[in-house]
Amino acid sequence: MRQNNMMAPTLRTVGEAEMISHQLLLRGGFIRQLAAGIYTFLPLGYRVLHKVEQIVREEMDRIGGQELLLPTLHPAELWQESGRWDTYGPDLFKMQDRHDRPFAIGPTHEEVITDLLRGEINSYKKLPMILYQIQNKFRDEKRPRSGLLRGREFIMKDAYSFHSDRDSLNETYEKMYQAYQNIFTRIGLEFRAVEADSGSIGGKGTHEFMALADAGEDTVVICESCDYSANVEMAEVAGEENTSGVASVEKMEKVHTPQKRTIEEVAKYLDVPVSKLAKSLVFLVDGEPVLVLVRGDHEVNDVKVKNLLNATVCELADDQTVQEIAGAPAGFVGPVGLKKKVKVLADQAVMNQRELIVGANEVDHHFIHVQPGRDFGVDVTGDLRNIQEGDRCPRCGGVISLRRGIEVGHVFKLGTRYSVAMKAGFLDENGKEQPFIMGCYGIGISRAVASVVEQNHDEYGIIWPVSIAPYTVHLIAVNMKNEVQAKTAEKLYQELLEAGYEVLFDDRKERAGVKFKDADLFGIPVRITVGAKAGDGLVEMKLRRSGDAQDVAVENVIRDLPEWIKRADNPS
Ligand code: ATP
Ligand code: MG
Repeated sequence: MRQNNMMAPTLRTVGEAEMISHQLLLRGGFIRQLAAGIYTFLPLGYRVLHKVEQIVREEMDRIGGQELLLPTLHPAELWQESGRWDTYGPDLFKMQDRHDRPFAIGPTHEEVITDLLRGEINSYKKLPMILYQIQNKFRDEKRPRSGLLRGREFIMKDAYSFHSDRDSLNETYEKMYQAYQNIFTRIGLEFRAVEADSGSIGGKGTHEFMALADAGEDTVVICESCDYSANVEMAEVAGEENTSGVASVEKMEKVHTPQKRTIEEVAKYLDVPVSKLAKSLVFLVDGEPVLVLVRGDHEVNDVKVKNLLNATVCELADDQTVQEIAGAPAGFVGPVGLKKKVKVLADQAVMNQRELIVGANEVDHHFIHVQPGRDFGVDVTGDLRNIQEGDRCPRCGGVISLRRGIEVGHVFKLGTRYSVAMKAGFLDENGKEQPFIMGCYGIGISRAVASVVEQNHDEYGIIWPVSIAPYTVHLIAVNMKNEVQAKTAEKLYQELLEAGYEVLFDDRKERAGVKFKDADLFGIPVRITVGAKAGDGLVEMKLRRSGDAQDVAVENVIRDLPEWIKRADNPS
């Protein structure tokens, strides 16, 4: 491609964009915004997108996926059948046709694919079946301010699998998981697959693939020594240590803590570390109030509370409920002398303390020298807190650190959630009607592109991995008005094309500085510069990532290029 004719309008600065990927994709002329969260892919951006899509296709096809294309407009009846017309929330774009019939503009396609299969597949003999598509999705996101990371119109690969039994679903899930590992590795992302909470489905029912990047909205727990990773909701906390010392415990005593509400205020006032206090929080678990205790320096993990009690909903209780149970407002609640008897749950770290400071269920008062078991009873103990930076890895004992992550993919065992609601089934070996058992598997293609930029850039621009770079080679003629340079560059361009390389040829009559600045922004892995030394038969070859550069004889460029490309993704 000749750059002179290409639509790649670079910008030296951009106004609003916060995220690096957003800034660089705008500045490099890869994308343009049409409206909030809605983007055009310009030619360079579209090439990158295509490459990611192609890798996704290859890996989906490899595990037996069949590509199809489902419609974007969905009749409301389908969404009413699944129940999601009302529950999906304000992210769902809705519209009417000329006859006032309501439609959804597809944010995801479980309903549409389930409707398709119930009409076409009636026998277990056709199962399992994996279908996928790559398509624009529409979600009226609340804060679409991160460029391609969170669009209102964005590109997703969504796959759905249909099975006659659980084992078959588990098998496909494993294959899909492996395919995702391959995809994200191939596009050059540093990522972790983390188990997520699957709500009512239970078991290892869902994993999220997280690209590690500071711009991420999610927190990823990783071990610095082994490959353990998890999301905060799910990360188990390894055994807890006693931090309260081993001295004999004195009698429990009530102390005045005037206007000291927060853990920090009370600890400071009593001149003790926050870990000596216990936080007491009232939750409503499936509507029933329970008191949950964690150490003052820890945070309650409501998913763990919910799962420990085999419940489906766990939420903080309102002020009135707290008052009814404790006889005091939040901040002074504790497990000793509750007004109303409720179930008491204590994190294992609380149980390991010799003594604690807790709220006295009375405004401006706390109890000190409180011993679990002696001064208050506990119904259930277990791991109830969030893992923290510096905790020990539950696998290997190494040090845990918390990183930011961007969810680029999601695999999920749906079970019969949609097939039952939409009466979609097949006949089993005995001729009996059974609902399909389903899985769904998404990849944010456009989000993945932005995630790669978040991880691969420097102060001058993007650094594309070879696998998804818009072009492999950027050929730059420093001065097109110089006959030798122009001629050498033109000849090289033809040779590179003939050898089958994807080449962008900067044949513009621009100043050298402009050309190099644009080249850095574009981030094409290998640069070949035809400059003043062309007269001596030399050009410069240079790698965008490592900065390695060398003068090479023009006639050796084609011979040496494979070696340069091989090294292009190496740091330095
Ligand atoms: P998030 O929590 O980030 O909103 P989600 O849970 O809503 O994601 P899914 O419904 O699982 O996402 O969609 C599948 C994939 O599509 C996600 O893993 C993500 O990579 C991508 N995705 C979701 N919403 C967007 C968006 N608004 N813009 C770009 N990609 C998105
Ligand atoms: Mg979402």
